[in-house]
Amino acid sequence: MGLKIWLDGKLVDKDDAKVSVFDHGLLYGDGVFEGIRVYDSRIFENDAHIKRLFESARAIRLKIRLTQDELAKAMEETVKANNIVNGYIRLLVTRGVGTLGLNPFLCENSCIIIIADKIQLYPEELYEKGMKIISANTVRNHPLAIPPQIKSMNYLNNILAKIEALDNNVMEAIMYNHEGFVAEATGDNVFIVKDGVVYTPPVESGSLEGITRKVVIKLAKEEKICVVEKNLTKFDLYVCDEFFLTGTAAEVIGIVDIDGRTISEGKPGPITTKLREKFFKYAHGKE
Ligand code: PMP
Repeated sequence: MGLKIWLDGKLVDKDDAKVSVFDHGLLYGDGVFEGIRVYDSRIFENDAHIKRLFESARAIRLKIRLTQDELAKAMEETVKANNIVNGYIRLLVTRGVGTLGLNPFLCENSCIIIIADKIQLYPEELYEKGMKIISANTVRNHPLAIPPQIKSMNYLNNILAKIEALDNNVMEAIMYNHEGFVAEATGDNVFIVKDGVVYTPPVESGSLEGITRKVVIKLAKEEKICVVEKNLTKFDLYVCDEFFLTGTAAEVIGIVDIDGRTISEGKPGPITTKLREKFFKYAHGKE
C-alpha cells in the first residue's frame, strides 16, 4: 500500500496529492510548516509544534482553516493511515491558490498538507563519532527582515549555507548573523559547553526557537547543569569543550570539528552524550 497524504481534509494517494502551480507556497514560498517526530506511535511535543505553527501563521496573517484540535486529529489520522510507529510528520500550510502577483489576500484559501513518512536520520556512526561541520559565509537573514521565530516555507537562506557545507564534504554549516554572532545551523540549533556550563544563542540572534532546543534545556536543568542563553562568536565555537546541535530530525548530535578545529579531543563529550541519552529516554516516554 502506498503512502497516504492528508490534503485539505482528505487522505489521498501520494500520486494524487497535488497542488496548483498558482499556489503561493510554490510561487513565493509563502506559507509555514512544522517537522514533527513520531516516537512509539506518539506525536512528539504535539502541542508545542501546533502552537508554533499557529504563531508562525498569525505573524504572516495566514488563516489556518482548522482549529488546533482538528489539526492534531488530522495528524493522528495520517500517522495511523500510514502505520507510522517511528517516523516524521511534515505539516504545511500554504497561502493557497492566487494570482501571479504577490498579493496574499487574493489567494482563495490556505491549503493544509500533512505527510507522515519514515525519517532519514544521519547515519548511526555519526552520532557515535561526532560530526564535522564548517562555518558558512552566507549570513543568516537579518532578524528584523524575517523574524527567525517564523518557520516559513522559504528556506533559501539556509539552503545557500547547506550548499557551502556540501561543497566542503560536510553535512551541516553554522550560520552567523549580520553582526557576526552565531545564529544557528541550517536546520538545527547550536549548543556549546565551556567549563561545565551549557551555552546557546538567544532566539534574537536569528535562530528558530527549536522545540528540541527547549526540551534539551529542560533536561539539562533537571541534571543541574547551568544553561545560559548568550551571543556566541566563532572564537567561542573554536575553543569550546563540547559542541552539539539539536533538531527534530537530528535530535542531539555531537560536533567534533569546525573549520578544522578539533573539539573535545575529536569525540562527543560527556555532557553531550548524557543529554543525548536523556533525550532518547524522554522521547520514548521513559523519563
Ligand atoms: N533551526 C532551523 C533553521 C530549523 O529548520 C530547525 C528544524 N529543523 C531547527 C532550528 C530545530 O528546531 P526543532 O527542534 O523545532 O526541530
